Amino acid sequence: MATTDQNTENTAGADTTPEFVSYEVKGTTAWIMLNRPEYSNAQNYRLLNQLDDCFKRAVEDEEVKVIVLGGEGKHFSAGHDIGTPDRDRMMPRERKTLWYDHVDKPGAELQYVLEQDAYLGFCRRWQEIPKPTIAMVQGACVAGGLMLAWACDLIVASEDAFFQDPVVRMGVPGVEYFAHAFELPPRIAREFLMLGRRMPADRAYMYGMVNAVVPRDELKANVVEMADELAERSRFGLALTKQAINFVEDLRGKRTSMDGVFHMHHLAHAHNQLLSGNLVNGLDAKAMADANRPKEKK
Ligand code: ZN
Repeated sequence: MATTDQNTENTAGADTTPEFVSYEVKGTTAWIMLNRPEYSNAQNYRLLNQLDDCFKRAVEDEEVKVIVLGGEGKHFSAGHDIGTPDRDRMMPRERKTLWYDHVDKPGAELQYVLEQDAYLGFCRRWQEIPKPTIAMVQGACVAGGLMLAWACDLIVASEDAFFQDPVVRMGVPGVEYFAHAFELPPRIAREFLMLGRRMPADRAYMYGMVNAVVPRDELKANVVEMADELAERSRFGLALTKQAINFVEDLRGKRTSMDGVFHMHHLAHAHNQLLSGNLVNGLDAKAMADANRPKEKK
C-alpha cells in the first residue's frame, strides 16, 4: 500500500502548478499539446507527469480512437529542461512507475532513479499505449524531443522540422531512450550522434524515421486525415498490430540495448559529475543553444 503521507507530500501544491500540457478531444482524436511555447516546449518533470496523465485519460476514454501528440508554437520540443525558471529537477514529484523518490539521494543514485522513472520508464510506457499515437512535429525536435516523437507510432513532420541529438557534446552517448540505431541505419545513427548536427525532415524521411513531410500550413490537416482514417480500423486490431511491431523491435534487441546504453549514459553522468561537478559537462542551456546553431558554411 502506498502511504498517505507520501501521496500528500507529492501532490502538495498541485493546485498552483502551471499547465504545461493541454488536452482536447475532437471527434475520435485526443489532441495532447505540449504547451510551453515560450521555452520551445522544454520538458520539465511536471510537464512529463502531466503528459502521462493526458495519455492515461486518452486511453481510458472509450470515444478516443487515436492520440495526437504535438507542441504549441514554433517548435515541437527543444528537449529536457536544462535551464528555464520552471526547471524542477530537485522538486518532489508524483511518481508514476514504481521507482522510489529521487530527492536527497546521494551520488549517482539521484539522477539514475529520476531518469529510470521519468525518462526511460515513461517513454516505454507511452510506446505501449494500446491506441495508435501520431507525433505532429514542426521546428525543433531535439534530444528529449526525439524521445517523445519516437515513442509514437507515426511521425508526421512539417518541411521546417529538424531532428537532432547533440548531447555527445555533454559527454553523454545520446538521450536516455536510446532508439537511435533503430530509428536510423547504424552508419547514420553514428553520424547523427557523433556530429550532433541537425537532420532536416526530408533527410529523416529518406531513412524512414518519419512517415510524411508536409508544408507547415498543411501539417495539422494531414494529421487529422491520418487520424480519421486510423479511427475507422478495429480498436483491437490496432492494439494487437502495435504490440506486434513492439514485439518484433524487442526481438531485434531494442529493449535490451536500451537497458545497456542507459547504464553507459549514467556512467557518463557520473563521470561528468566527478570531473566537472555537473551532470552535463558544465554546459548550461545557453552554451548548448550556442553550440547547436548550424555552423556557417565556409
Ligand atoms: Zn540523462
